[in-house]
Amino acid sequence: MKDKPEKLIVKGKRLDGRKMDELRPIKIEVGVLKRADGSCYMELGENKVMAAVYGPREVHPRHLQEATKAIIRYRYNMASFSVEERKRPGPDRRSVEISKVSRDAIEPVIIKECFPKAAVDIFVEVLQADAGTRTAGINAASVALADAGIPMKGLVSSCAVGKIDGQIVLDPMKEEDNYGEADMPIAMVMPDKITLLQMDGCFTQDEFKQAFELAKKGCEQIYEMQRQALIEKYGVEGK
Ligand code: UDP
Repeated sequence: MKDKPEKLIVKGKRLDGRKMDELRPIKIEVGVLKRADGSCYMELGENKVMAAVYGPREVHPRHLQEATKAIIRYRYNMASFSVEERKRPGPDRRSVEISKVSRDAIEPVIIKECFPKAAVDIFVEVLQADAGTRTAGINAASVALADAGIPMKGLVSSCAVGKIDGQIVLDPMKEEDNYGEADMPIAMVMPDKITLLQMDGCFTQDEFKQAFELAKKGCEQIYEMQRQALIEKYGVEGK
């Protein structure tokens, strides 16, 4: 891991040259996997994630079936080569937690009643990590669900805000996440439904309000990019 830099903000700019309220460059590609029902590849700065959706399909084991609606399963996995220090393959506490909160962030938009007794399986594979992988995963998963044609009330858009050198910043990258004072990922359904809010570190009440507003602005921008990526693949809405 890189040593702690003396400052994370130098001459009003962040170490990667961004302004305080600027997202990292984003790339979203829809329908990249032939064998998945829906898929999405997303880059968020140095993060590279792939989301694949399978379903609606039969539930195994059967006792997990729900008579009136589909069940949603979400698996977040970080490849061992995705991080600086090789990660031991397989699930760990962190990936179990992220899978759970990501599922909770996505589930409210899925109209599960359309598919009784079925399962919708979402797999998120992190190929390269640089802080913000859960948010990138949620964004990609949401687009992959749309690509799979799963009926939804909206798209879920997600990004994090942090506090570095006492200032609130949008979308912290690895060094800012490691050495910053706070990190708060959120996910939302436009215009104002929050489906994920986690926090590491401390904000004052005023800082929290400022951070929350900034995160909402970030999600709005991401939502627009998700929409554009889907329109690029499927044409203008309703046509
Ligand atoms: N990370 C790592 N090894 C691990 C877990 C995380 O190097 O075993 C790095 C990775 O770059 C990740 C970052 O730490 O993106 C921040 O991790 P966090 O748990 O905050 O989740 P994220 O921000 O990726 O959603």
